[in-house]
Amino acid sequence: MESVEGVESIDKIKVRVVGIDIRLDRTTYAIVDIKGDIVAQDQFDTMDFPDVNDFVSALSEKVMMLVEENGGYESIRSVGVSAPSANSLTGCVENAANLPWKGVVPLAAMLRDRLGLAVAVANDAHITALSEKTYGSAHGMKDFVVVSMSHGGLGSCFYSNGQPHLGYNGFAGEVGHTCVEINGRECGCGNKGCLETYCSQKGLIKTAEELIAESKEPTLLSDLQELTIQTITDCCYKGDKLAIEVFRRTGEMLGMGLANYASVLNPEAIILTGEMTQAGKWLLKPMRISFDEHVFHNIRNKTRILVSILKEGERDVLGASALAWDVKEYSLFK
Ligand SMILES: [Zn+2]
Repeated sequence: MESVEGVESIDKIKVRVVGIDIRLDRTTYAIVDIKGDIVAQDQFDTMDFPDVNDFVSALSEKVMMLVEENGGYESIRSVGVSAPSANSLTGCVENAANLPWKGVVPLAAMLRDRLGLAVAVANDAHITALSEKTYGSAHGMKDFVVVSMSHGGLGSCFYSNGQPHLGYNGFAGEVGHTCVEINGRECGCGNKGCLETYCSQKGLIKTAEELIAESKEPTLLSDLQELTIQTITDCCYKGDKLAIEVFRRTGEMLGMGLANYASVLNPEAIILTGEMTQAGKWLLKPMRISFDEHVFHNIRNKTRILVSILKEGERDVLGASALAWDVKEYSLFK
C-alpha cells in the first residue's frame, strides 16, 4: 500500500514477543506472535547451570540464537518470564525453594541488560492463571481461581474483578499451605497439615504408602516398581480397590480445600491444571462430592470446576508471552 505520512503500517510494529518458563528441571523459551501462535520453541536443562550468572548468559545466548533464526531481533517487542517465587513487583526471584539459586536474584534486570529488551517476570502460579485467562478456560471470566497440582506442590492464583490478586506482599493465593488437618503431615514450609501434603503427587504417594501398610487385602499397588500418579491410576482402571481408595481420600481432601477457598472468594470457576489432573474421574468424582458437601450453601451448584485444556508444555510460555505484551517497549539503542 502507498505510504501516507504520519500513518504507520503493521510492518513497522513489533509483532512478536519471547516467553520463558523456568522450572527446576527445564527451561523452555518460545517466540510467540501477536495472535498467540508459537513461532519457534526450544528448551534445556535448568540444572546444567547451577550458577545464576552462567544460567542467564546461556539463556540469553540461546534466546538470541532462536530469534536470529526466526525473524530477527527487530521483530521482538519484549520478554516475559515465569519462574517459581518470582515477584512481579520487584522483578526478582526471591528465595526460591524450587530453584538452584539462593537468595534474591534480580532476574528481570539481568536479562534486560543482556538482551536489550524490556523484561517482565511473574511467579509460575500467576503466569498459569494469565495463560488460562488469555488462551484457556478462563477466557472472558473476571472472578476465577486457577489451581496447579504438580509433583511437589499445589500452587494457585485468583483473579478478582478481572485483575490478579497479588496481596500486600505479593504472596496471595497460597491455598496449598492452608491447614486441613490439625497436627497433620509435615510440610516443606515448616507447618503441619497443609493441603499440598495431601493433594500433590508427593502427598498422593504418601497416602498410598500408608494405606498399603494398613491393608490386609492383596493390592496391585504392592507390586508396582514405582508409585506415581500414572501407575496408581492404571491400578484404578484394573479395579484395584485400594488404588481407588487412595484417590478417594485425596479427592475428599482436595474438595474440602477447594470448598474453603471458594467459600471465601465466590469464583465463577475453579480451573485445575498440572499432572494430578491426569488421574481423571478417580480424583475428580470424589473431589466434586466433597466440594459440594463443604462449600457455602448459597454458592453450591454455582461454582464451575474445569480441567485445563492447554498443553502442559505450552501453557506457561504462552502465559509468559502474554505478560510480555503488558510491559512497556524498551531498547538500549533508543
Ligand atoms: Zn505448607
